[in-house]
Amino acid sequence: MIRLFTKFLMLLLLLISHSLLSQDQHQIDHANGGAYAFTQAAPCLSAAKRGALKASIKSRIQKLHQDGKLRKSLAGSLVSLDPPIRKAANQTSQHFYAIRNFVDHDPLATGSQFGSSNLDYNCGVRTYDSSSGYNHQGTDFCSWPFPWHAYENDLMEVVAAAAGQIIGIDDGNADDNCDCINNFDSWNAIYIRHADGSVAWYGHLKKGITKTVGQMVQQGEYLGVVGSSGCSTDPHLHFEVYDAGGSLIDPFGGNCNAMNSQSWWTAQENYYVPRINALLTHYLPPIFGCPALNESTHFSDCFHPGERIYIAAYFRDQLSASLTNLRIRRPNGSLQNSWNHSSPQYYSFSYWYWYIDLPFSEASGEWTVEADYQGVTYEHKFEYTAGECSCQTEHALTSGTRLSGGLSAARKYEVAGEIESKQTISTGPSSVDVIYDAGQSISLLSGFELRSGVVFSALVGGCSP
Ligand SMILES: [Zn+2]
Repeated sequence: MIRLFTKFLMLLLLLISHSLLSQDQHQIDHANGGAYAFTQAAPCLSAAKRGALKASIKSRIQKLHQDGKLRKSLAGSLVSLDPPIRKAANQTSQHFYAIRNFVDHDPLATGSQFGSSNLDYNCGVRTYDSSSGYNHQGTDFCSWPFPWHAYENDLMEVVAAAAGQIIGIDDGNADDNCDCINNFDSWNAIYIRHADGSVAWYGHLKKGITKTVGQMVQQGEYLGVVGSSGCSTDPHLHFEVYDAGGSLIDPFGGNCNAMNSQSWWTAQENYYVPRINALLTHYLPPIFGCPALNESTHFSDCFHPGERIYIAAYFRDQLSASLTNLRIRRPNGSLQNSWNHSSPQYYSFSYWYWYIDLPFSEASGEWTVEADYQGVTYEHKFEYTAGECSCQTEHALTSGTRLSGGLSAARKYEVAGEIESKQTISTGPSSVDVIYDAGQSISLLSGFELRSGVVFSALVGGCSP
């Protein structure tokens, strides 16, 4: 029964492909995509909240001191910061973040992002300020690509950049915000004091922090997950650092950093890190939006003869006029298609996708998409078959898929293991087709809801082993 349904669906897709997509099989002449735009031109915290936070951190330190629980500062020691984020074990993208905003060293604040009143440590303008007089005081590490998919699946983790003592926690606030309206001063965050007395703030976390105030943490220890709590336009970590005297520092050392003469990083990343974070295939174009409801990954690694495949590259720091060479290879390694892309400008976050209607009579098996960028070759595999794909996954996770949030677009979740869902599936402009296809089991947890107009199918073992 279940298998019949899968076959029926496949036939249907085939019929559609045959009728709509005719002869033209070489449409890789046009790149769609461009910048992944953010509009953060408001401070993560109000000046009042920032002041209150500093005062509360100060009194918290005093209290810990009085209680004999404060770890002594080691005068003269310098902290060395490791990256405050890491890729979760189930994150399949090769790279998973990019930096949007550095600390703003220009005292002018006009409400601009990447503008003339902005100055980053490297004398560029990759930061922002607000007309209320705020100059960005931290570094924003943003999840990229598919920040909401990463948020829903806990794919970007926050870790302690340096060992220390947790001296404050804010938690319990909404963590899927898209703007600052009513969201000021309600972020989830952890504040850690290091051995030298310096303090790091980790802001915009997902709620449900499991750490406690007073607890000691090791460098690299898990703190939580990147979210979009507080005044935030998308899931990212705002990382802000103060020295032992309470003065703001910029952990990046550079010519235009007047706050501190040296980098605080163990290994400072280059100003530009041009690379492909992910090379992926999709059954429809990727859609970005905020919050999770408006982002559609459309992942697929399973294609049939005649179907349209969307091949997408997601870049961090794509340099102006930099070249990417892309290729499709058959299972035997022979070249099926190749094309070039030249970036029209610099982008900190960008994505480009191309589509091709796959041929009708080619060898079944594992095909490869390749992309050369800045001397590195990136690879992604997909299956091309007239039959059933082996269990190719829409959301490939090691142990299963936890689904939450709202959904109003057609989507198929196919995993080899189990699916647990708390999703609310609501109708969009037309009826919605949502398919859960799990190899082992499907659990509909409290919170799962189907609204009218939705076509929903749950399949267990619907794909070949
Ligand atoms: Zn920030």
